[in-house]
Amino acid sequence: MIGLAAAYAFRHRQHTVTVIDRGPPGGECSRGNAGWVVPFLSGPLPAPGLGLRSLGWMLRRDSPLHVDLRALPGLAPWLWRFWRHCNARDYAHGLEAVATLNGATMRLFDAWAADGVAFEMHQSGLLVVFLDRAHAPEAMVDFAALEDLGYAVPKLLTGDALRAIEPDLSEQVTGGFLVESERHVRPESLTAGLARRVEELGVTVRSGVGVLGAVGGGRVIRALRTSEGELAADRFLIAAGAWSGRLAATMGAALPVEAGKGYSITVADPALSLRRPLYFGEAKIGVSPFRNSVRVAGTMELSGMNTRLHVRRLAALRRSAERYLRVRPAWERGEEWVGLRAITPDGLPLIGRLPGYDNVYVATGHGMLGVTLAPATAELVADLMDGCTDDVAASFDPARFARRT
Ligand SMILES: Cc1cc2nc3c(=O)[nH]c(=O)nc-3n(C[C@H](O)[C@H](O)[C@H](O)COP(=O)(O)OP(=O)(O)OC[C@H]3O[C@@H](n4cnc5c(N)ncnc54)[C@H](O)[C@@H]3O)c2cc1C
Repeated sequence: MIGLAAAYAFRHRQHTVTVIDRGPPGGECSRGNAGWVVPFLSGPLPAPGLGLRSLGWMLRRDSPLHVDLRALPGLAPWLWRFWRHCNARDYAHGLEAVATLNGATMRLFDAWAADGVAFEMHQSGLLVVFLDRAHAPEAMVDFAALEDLGYAVPKLLTGDALRAIEPDLSEQVTGGFLVESERHVRPESLTAGLARRVEELGVTVRSGVGVLGAVGGGRVIRALRTSEGELAADRFLIAAGAWSGRLAATMGAALPVEAGKGYSITVADPALSLRRPLYFGEAKIGVSPFRNSVRVAGTMELSGMNTRLHVRRLAALRRSAERYLRVRPAWERGEEWVGLRAITPDGLPLIGRLPGYDNVYVATGHGMLGVTLAPATAELVADLMDGCTDDVAASFDPARFARRT
């Protein structure tokens, strides 16, 4: 998603662009996610109080955030940095920075659609619901900081009021609120639409070509070493999602990117008739209705770089989702999926120059917001590559973690 969006922005600035992906572009984390476009959820992952709460979650397999104890020794230095960002000051800074970057998000999605990027997009808002009504105000605190983006604090709704607008919610739901401005896309349709459009605009898209390292000396790279030989260029962008840290390491640079594993189940003909996406507050599960299917997505598992699909986590996802729904989705017709989000210790993306290099840039670390932030990230990194600086860019500068290996 991020690489294709960036290619689109570079091409519109008249650059000659080649996208290289070791698989089909859009085949990894950008495929089976919930597809929400939600500037309202701009708050970073490390939140005040999360450090302590996640210690308890570590021991529970069905918790929304799970740290695999076997991976703990390798993850410990990264987790330590993450926990140090679980405070009110860093959270407020991160929320403001991401919300500011998101200021252009809806306009940029409309611009893609107007320019012939064909994709499935819905503008039906986001309904946030809770089993315990007392939990809703906690989810509403960010609205005060989001006022500049045009958000008003939504009205708290009772379970009955929620069921009146979304009849498939269960009787167990007792409260929630509707954020009317939010949207969602079918992410596979967006990456396919972007890939098609950038090719029409003259971008070369090379699938099945892995990047192995770089050729050059000092601060400048001359070419990439790929599975199909060298590829020369004058500027390079690493947008390899959760694998970006590994790619940067081949160039001797350290990027603190960890994999946050998530799961989804896409049920065709689901026996549910949802009108809009739902966020199940306590379980931290998202549900997205698409044309002819519904996708249930969630969990954040820190277990290192692997795409192993744990059936127990999927069972927990199904079980938790069922509590919020009146109708049991036809799980037996579901497609199960696992994806790796790229996450950083402060929960903010890495957008800017790769530390130690003059002509290598990075755009990754979008955590739970890579779809939402794709167009704004692309514009920002294209501006930076063209030599423009921006106040908001400082918060995302990869140099904030700079250290050469
Ligand atoms: C369960 C779940 C639900 C989510 N829901 C949402 C949501 O509702 N809204 C939202 O905004 N975000 C959501 N996200 C997050 C979003 O999916 C990601 O932030 C986004 O897809 C990241 O895109 P990316 O382009 O950075 O990474 P990826 O899509 O992972 O792309 C990285 C690409 O790099 C390629 N690559 C890696 N290494 C190499 C190499 N050495 N050589 C060549 N190519 C390489 C890979 O093949 C891949 O195609 C969700 C994530 C999960 C897991």
